[in-house]
Amino acid sequence: MAVKVFIPTPLRPFTEKCDTVEVNGATVEEVLQDLIRKHGQLQPHLYSENGVMRSYVNIYVNDEDIRYLSKEKTPVKSTDTVSIIPSIAGGVDAEVKSDVGLTKEELLRYSRHLIIPEVGTAGQKKLKAAKVLVIGAGGLGSPVGMYLAAAGVGTIGIVDFDVVDSTNLQRQILHSTGDVGRSKLDSARETLEGINPNVAIETYEERLTSENALKLFADYDVIVDGTDNFPTRYLVNDACVLLGKPNVYGSILRFDGQVSVFSARGRSVFGGEAQRGPCYRCLYPTPPPPGLVPSCAEGGVLGVLPGIIGTLQALETIKLILGEGEPLIGRLVLFDALKFTFRELKLKRDPHCPICGENPTIHKLIDYEQFCGVKPPAAKETIDEQIEITVEQLKKRLDRGDDLFILDVREPHEYEIANIGAQLIPLSELPKRFQEINSSKEIIVHCKSGHRSARAAEFLRKKGFQKVKNLVGGIDAWSERIDPRVPHY
Ligand SMILES: [Zn+2]
Repeated sequence: MAVKVFIPTPLRPFTEKCDTVEVNGATVEEVLQDLIRKHGQLQPHLYSENGVMRSYVNIYVNDEDIRYLSKEKTPVKSTDTVSIIPSIAGGVDAEVKSDVGLTKEELLRYSRHLIIPEVGTAGQKKLKAAKVLVIGAGGLGSPVGMYLAAAGVGTIGIVDFDVVDSTNLQRQILHSTGDVGRSKLDSARETLEGINPNVAIETYEERLTSENALKLFADYDVIVDGTDNFPTRYLVNDACVLLGKPNVYGSILRFDGQVSVFSARGRSVFGGEAQRGPCYRCLYPTPPPPGLVPSCAEGGVLGVLPGIIGTLQALETIKLILGEGEPLIGRLVLFDALKFTFRELKLKRDPHCPICGENPTIHKLIDYEQFCGVKPPAAKETIDEQIEITVEQLKKRLDRGDDLFILDVREPHEYEIANIGAQLIPLSELPKRFQEINSSKEIIVHCKSGHRSARAAEFLRKKGFQKVKNLVGGIDAWSERIDPRVPHY
């Protein structure tokens, strides 16, 4: 029975450049034997000397991995396509030059690296010559920066424009209690130089934007994404794809973390040309609507979690620089801290991806705030008076005794931390509890920052409530601009 076998690029030199070969067989084993009969040079690439299939070769029948079917005994029909999928391993073309020397002090400092064959002096020199840009000096950026500095990565750039806040200290271990109120970059520089004075720390005290991203990234070999918001995440992804730089991705929320390496080129274990792995947009083509996925500020995060995920990002960064091992290209690792499970999902490059696909529609950086449906804070000065109210306007109306129904749609534990005496109905309970709201009054809805309450206000309008306004900026804005006694959490 004739079956088509798809041959991956690295193996085509052994099949006279054919991308598909027609062979005969009723099982995968028979098909591969016939393939090797026709193209004998494939043998050592598919099987070891003792005839066992190589562990880095995956065989798929149509969309299914034969490891999950009947392995080599998996039956095949003439309509099936058998594909050989080599795993993508080391040899990332980060192109780090290693024409630097190591001082006596460095030879001693890095001695535990130097005695690992995969690192050695050659690898340590690569680390010294490498330039890594870390986006964000927060929860993820802390372990990333600290381990990269300790490992001897020669140049570490950090982009951040924030000031250390006491709510950061639970997880952002670059900063100490004495740093509260200082610029995060100053604090980060001090910590990293304290760990390793041989490392050059370049700081960029600015918001990463479509205007500056390509220029900032151009000088670096690897970009580490330690951001906490969707606009910056898509911006980092797109800039990395456009420049062909590897993007070491990490994200965290509550007890869950994700890690992957996006838009990196890696050579397959067969050698041959390096191929580009999938990007963040191949995984998530579009962002969730604003307010649907809470940020760490809204949803919370266990302090140790960014330590775990950030450390994994540092690990992948070092592997990319060394060109050793199998980087997380084309794989997404999910960590569930409560269950203590790591799950790995295979990621494929999406041929329809708007930026790294076959016919990309994005050729330059776009407006990411608009793409993600969030307006930058500065543009929030104008409000829609019909459906929105500022904290200053609310204060004025309360002071003059207007009879308003103030609805808080946050969670009870948030209410416990800080509240302004409003009626509490969490957003998730609103569909079954909205009758508790006095519809004769004008309703002002608030949450922490204004996203959840905007959805709640929209919901109430659909249920026929006439006068509903969203408090722009939420209780955060109230705490910042009206009453500092209300804790900011
Ligand atoms: Zn893509």
